[in-house]
Amino acid sequence: MSVMTQPTDALRQQDPQMADVLEGERRRQAETLQMSAAENFTSPAVLAALGSVLSNKYAEGYPGARYHGGCEYVDLAERTAVERARALFGVEHANVQPHSGSAAVLAAYAALLRPGDTVLAMGLAHGGHLTHGSPANFSGRWFDFVGYGVDAESGLVDYEQVQRLARAHRPKAIVCGSISYPRHLEYSAFREIADEVGAYLIADAAHPIGLVAGGAAPSPVPYADVVCATTHKVLRGPRGGMVLCGGEFAERVDRAVFPFTQGGAQMHSIAAKAVAFGEAAAPPFTRYAHRVVANARALAAALEQRGFAVTTGGTDTHLISADPAALGVDGPTARGRLAAAGIVLDTCALPYGDQRGIRLGTAAVTTQGMGEPEMARIAGLFAAALEGDAARTRAEVAALTGGFPPYGA
Ligand SMILES: *Cc1c(COP(=O)(O)O)cnc(C)c1O
Repeated sequence: MSVMTQPTDALRQQDPQMADVLEGERRRQAETLQMSAAENFTSPAVLAALGSVLSNKYAEGYPGARYHGGCEYVDLAERTAVERARALFGVEHANVQPHSGSAAVLAAYAALLRPGDTVLAMGLAHGGHLTHGSPANFSGRWFDFVGYGVDAESGLVDYEQVQRLARAHRPKAIVCGSISYPRHLEYSAFREIADEVGAYLIADAAHPIGLVAGGAAPSPVPYADVVCATTHKVLRGPRGGMVLCGGEFAERVDRAVFPFTQGGAQMHSIAAKAVAFGEAAAPPFTRYAHRVVANARALAAALEQRGFAVTTGGTDTHLISADPAALGVDGPTARGRLAAAGIVLDTCALPYGDQRGIRLGTAAVTTQGMGEPEMARIAGLFAAALEGDAARTRAEVAALTGGFPPYGA
């Protein structure tokens, strides 16, 4: 166990209450199965950058043009993060300051839109994110969102519907991206539709960007005007966001992030993003990204054999969405029984009806070193957990995770 992944002695001595919280969470992550599609285990190097003195530094502005003194080292950190992101994604411009994926989307809208503009995005009932027009979010309040969906039978994006809605509503921007869509999006089809109606194309690649980095998913960079992403999902970096774009939008994007929507950049996070980009550029990450997808495909097939109805019949990515109804439970009940057995995941909308399903991913378990034999075992644990034998299943989950400690033994 690396020292950096445990509560430090300083914290234990000064604040045992909070040290216990961190230790409890460390054990929870190690002893249960982390199958939330949005989560992963960062490397000890990423954690070291996060828990560093860079957290002390104020740095409003951009490298070489800061509103604070003493930025020579954090400027190096940000320049390095930007250069690595540009090389990793083959893009002209990268802004690595967004505090989160949602902050990156807000900045993209701020760069390209005005309040009241019409935006076409995947409807929330079909897998759109809160920032794609939820009435509870700034997006739904400040813009006029029109939602496209997926086909009820196939679960696939209905590109003809996207085109029809684009022609009818003439949106200022089209957003492609989802929290639960398990297949690759056809970025070229979205680009054609956007061009036909004179709309910007914004790709919200929060989920697949790590697969893109590892060459295991198509890149939206050649097609979208602006790409928003997170750094903490399959990409395995610190919690945070980024915006990628061509040179023509660089200035607008930078001004949209700072000073329009954010203040001082979080330099510890930016250094940790640089570390993660460095890791993602190396061959082991390419192998990792492909293993994530192979594991998700194996798990989807095994779940289907156990009676789960897997949306779209499988997956191209790390992400699986499934309806457990044939096993006698809905999504929220399934999530509860799985949690009781030590299997952690989320619920999600299904392409038909108003019942919810389950959403899971293989990014974290693959980081732990699990492979296809373990995916078959996990599908068996899912079935056992839904049958209600929580205590026995929990012991089997602990036995499985005990063989794959996320931060070494
Ligand atoms: C995760 C996600 C986000 C938001 O990321 P946060 O860091 O939680 O704000 C935005 N869009 C999509 C499609 C996502 O999956």
